[in-house]
Amino acid sequence: DSLELKSLNEILTTMYPLIEAYAFQQDKQIRLIAGNIPPIYVNEKEIHQLLLNLVRNALEASPLRGIVTLKTEVLHDEVILTVKDRGKGIDPTILKKIGTPFFTTKEKGTGLGLAVSYSIVERHKGKVFVESSEKGSVFKIHFPLPAKVD
Ligand code: ADP
Ligand code: MG
Repeated sequence: DSLELKSLNEILTTMYPLIEAYAFQQDKQIRLIAGNIPPIYVNEKEIHQLLLNLVRNALEASPLRGIVTLKTEVLHDEVILTVKDRGKGIDPTILKKIGTPFFTTKEKGTGLGLAVSYSIVERHKGKVFVESSEKGSVFKIHFPLPAKVD
């Protein structure tokens, strides 16, 4: 599948009603902080999938009425997408294993969401950073800006 120049904010806006409804069903909340970001090369369907996977995990980890924050920003030569929750966090021993296909700590989990997400990020030449504490988890996806000359 091909990549096109598009703003992540545009994709987020398109998906927002779906994500919000999904949070509402679980009595949880979504907050969107859209920064002033330039377009990057994306496969919209894949970014859609990536966002759903990360938001789903964040909502599942969240307590009732918990807030999941989605944020976009540009820093140096990267666009950064942050998905943050105030859930119980990820145990350090487990942190190393997440993203391995079929690794799950959930009774009905598939353990595929992050594996698929990480390969999507790789196809976009991006990087994933995960921080977690007992106050919650933060997934940061760094996307390169398009080269100035191409
Ligand atoms: P699944 O959601 O089916 O378990 P994933 O690949 O999406 O599979 O996630 C793998 C595991 O990573 C989860 O079972 C959970 O232990 C951990 N995880 C992922 N995201 C979070 C999060 N936001 N908070 C806490 N744990 C998480
Ligand atoms: Mg999942």
